[in-house]
Amino acid sequence: MEVRMEKYAFIDEEMARLKEAGLYNRIRTIESPQGARIIVDGKKVLNMCSNNYLGFANDPALVEAAKKGLDKFGAGPGAVRSIAGTMSFHNELEKKLADFKHVEATLSLQSGFVANQAVIPSIVPGEEDAIITDELNHASIIDGVRLTKAKRFIYRHNDVSDLETKLREAQSFRKKLIITDGVFSMDGDIAPLADICDVADRYGAMTMVDDAHGEGVLGKNGSGIADHFGLHGRIDFEIGTLSKAFGVVGGFISGKAVTIEFLKQKARTFLFSSAVTPADAFACIAAVDILMNSDERVKKLWENTTYFKGKMKEMGFDTGVSQTPITPVMLGEAKTAQEFSKKLFELGVFAMAIGFPTVPKGKARIRVMISAAHNREDLDFALQAFEKAGHELSILAR
Ligand code: PMP
Repeated sequence: MEVRMEKYAFIDEEMARLKEAGLYNRIRTIESPQGARIIVDGKKVLNMCSNNYLGFANDPALVEAAKKGLDKFGAGPGAVRSIAGTMSFHNELEKKLADFKHVEATLSLQSGFVANQAVIPSIVPGEEDAIITDELNHASIIDGVRLTKAKRFIYRHNDVSDLETKLREAQSFRKKLIITDGVFSMDGDIAPLADICDVADRYGAMTMVDDAHGEGVLGKNGSGIADHFGLHGRIDFEIGTLSKAFGVVGGFISGKAVTIEFLKQKARTFLFSSAVTPADAFACIAAVDILMNSDERVKKLWENTTYFKGKMKEMGFDTGVSQTPITPVMLGEAKTAQEFSKKLFELGVFAMAIGFPTVPKGKARIRVMISAAHNREDLDFALQAFEKAGHELSILAR
C-alpha cells in the first residue's frame, strides 16, 4: 500500500493543482439521446455545448440507416482495413464523401484525430522536411507534428505575412507543409485560406486544412471551407470529422487520387488500426445524402447563430472573434468560467467551461455551440439563463 501511494504521489499532486486552479474537469454524464433537450446527471437541461451542429446525432433517418448496416453487415469490420477489413460500405462512404467535398478521392478513418495523425508523418516525416503551422492549431495537429522529425515553424495565428516570413526561412527544405485549422475550434474564427493558398503556391508548399468545424457549416450545403472560399482543387489535404455536423463518429481525408493512394500505403493509423463499424458508415452515408439534397439544416444553423450571437452582444457579453456557430463567452479566469457553468446548469442550461491548456491562461470561457436542433424558444431560454448568471456573477453591469 505504502509503495503504491508513493508511486502515484505525482497524480495526487497534479490533481490537487488542477482543482486549485479551477482546471479539474468534472465530466458530466448524458443519459438520453443527443438533441436540444437532454438529461444530464439526472436533470433535464438545454444542451448548448454539443458539436451536433445539424441535429443529425439522433436523426431517425440515420438511426434507421445504422440499423440497416447492422442487419446487413453485422457489428464490426473484423480486421484492419488494409489487411482484411475493407468492406464495400467503407468504399461507398469514401465515394460519397468525395462527391460531397468535390474532390477526387477520400480516405475514411476512425476519427478526425487519427486523420491528422495519418497525414502529417506520412507526408513530412524527415529532417529534410518543414512544417509551417498556425500557433492555435488543434491538439490533434500538434500531436501529428510531434510524430515527425520535420523542422517546425510556428506562425502567428491567422497572420499570412508571418506565414510568409516562416516560408522564406524554410525555403531550403525539400518539402514544405502548411497546416491550419479551417475554423478554429475554441474561438470560431476562420483561417484566411485563399491568401494561405496563394502564398503556398509562391513558395511551392503543400497545404493541409482541418475542416472539422467547417463541414456542415460553411460552403454550399455545408460542404466545407474549400467551397466557402472557392478553393476546390487547391488544398492538398483536407481533414474531416464525422463526429460533429455529421452526428456519428469517424474521420476522413479529402484530396487528389494520387495523394490518397499514397496515404493508403503509408499512413500508420490506417495500416495499423481497424475501421468504423457498418452501423457508423451507414449512418454517415445517410447524413451525407441528406446534406447533398437539402441545405435546410445549414440555413437553420446560421439563422440560430445570428440570432443568438446578436442577443448575447446586445446584453454586453464578449463573444470574441467568432465568425461561425462556435460562440465563446469570454470570462477570463478558469474558476469564474467553472462557476458560470455551474450556475447555468442550475438554471437548466448545459454549457461547459473551457480553460487552460485547451485555451490560453486568462482566456477561460463558456463555449456555446449553436445547433440547427435548437428552436427559438430554446435560444431564448438560454439567453435568459446567461443574463441571470451574468448578473449574479457580476460579469454583466447591472
Ligand atoms: N480537429 C478539430 C479542429 C477538432 O475540433 C476535433 C474535435 N475536437 C478534431 C479534429 C477531432 O475530431 P474527432 O472527434 O473526429 O477525433
